Amino acid sequence: MRAAVYRGPSLISLENVPVPTISAGEILVRVHTCGVCGTDLKKIEYGLVAPPRIFGHEFAGTVVEKGSKVTRFRVGDRVAAHHHIPCRKCFYCRKKLFSQCEFYRRTGTTAGFEPAGGGFAEYVRVMDWIVEEGTVLIPDNVSFEEASFLEPLNTCLKALETAELEPGEVVVVYGQGPVGLLMMQSAVYEGARVIGLDFLKSRLAMSRELGAELALHPDKDNIEEAVARVTEGRGADLAIVAAANPRAIEDALRIVRRGGRVLLFAQTVAGEMVPVDASRICVEEKKLIGSYSASIELQEEAARMIFTRKINVARLISHRFALDLLSEGIHLASHPSEHSLKVVIQP
Ligand SMILES: [Zn+2]
Ligand SMILES: [Zn+2]
Repeated sequence: MRAAVYRGPSLISLENVPVPTISAGEILVRVHTCGVCGTDLKKIEYGLVAPPRIFGHEFAGTVVEKGSKVTRFRVGDRVAAHHHIPCRKCFYCRKKLFSQCEFYRRTGTTAGFEPAGGGFAEYVRVMDWIVEEGTVLIPDNVSFEEASFLEPLNTCLKALETAELEPGEVVVVYGQGPVGLLMMQSAVYEGARVIGLDFLKSRLAMSRELGAELALHPDKDNIEEAVARVTEGRGADLAIVAAANPRAIEDALRIVRRGGRVLLFAQTVAGEMVPVDASRICVEEKKLIGSYSASIELQEEAARMIFTRKINVARLISHRFALDLLSEGIHLASHPSEHSLKVVIQP
């Protein structure tokens, strides 16, 4: 089969690799759509992990083969998979910090080499623990493209849960790219009033269209004044930094109210240092928190929200690329333009 193999920093090569073989508890999925995720971009661009790997964890496709012990799925079923599942028993799982669980960090879907998702290939092997707990059946009226958003939406719901979002709160989301727009919609769905920030006009227009109360440009609009107007001068209850811009963190700590929260969602590269006015945390009692990856406890909720179209994910896809154009897709996703949003690969 054909696969896009990561061979080193910013190096992706289209190669012929063996179709993965499956064991008794596993399934083989023919990939239809796989989203290009920001974490993939960083791993590929900065070479954060050792090659070779086949990335792509936001995938949906059709079961083409199943092991003898698999009872949950049949050949022909349309599915989407989460690539990580926690053990539910360890110290971190007992504290519901599932993404810190050692077992969770083992990736359970692969198209070959060190498991890394595998969605940037024609076929993916889904390992037994993912078949049991991380694989979701897609209803007939939902497209593969929509279903490929299950894992990313889950990560947004988890972030809002971590931030203890309450209905009626005012939330500022830095970045209205595909992830920021997903986060914005999730917060609106949970009853928040959301202000979306972005430097691109098209993304601000999309933000308003999909439910933001305000969508503002950090350089052209007075954000502080706009936030003050909707919060009786207090400042936002919560700011979510869904953009890699380090300036946004400093800014977010300023525009949340006393006792407010700033949640980091896009800071996934180790060693990144940012300036923080510590008195905002000490004297003003603001909380600087983070959230990473998905929660198994939100899997059903994420599926329900997408399958009943409570969240509009179809509008977020701007580009569909064949497998041999993955490098182009990666370039586009990491250099956003007025015309680009979510990039997906359709092998
Ligand atoms: Zn992802
Ligand atoms: Zn665990």
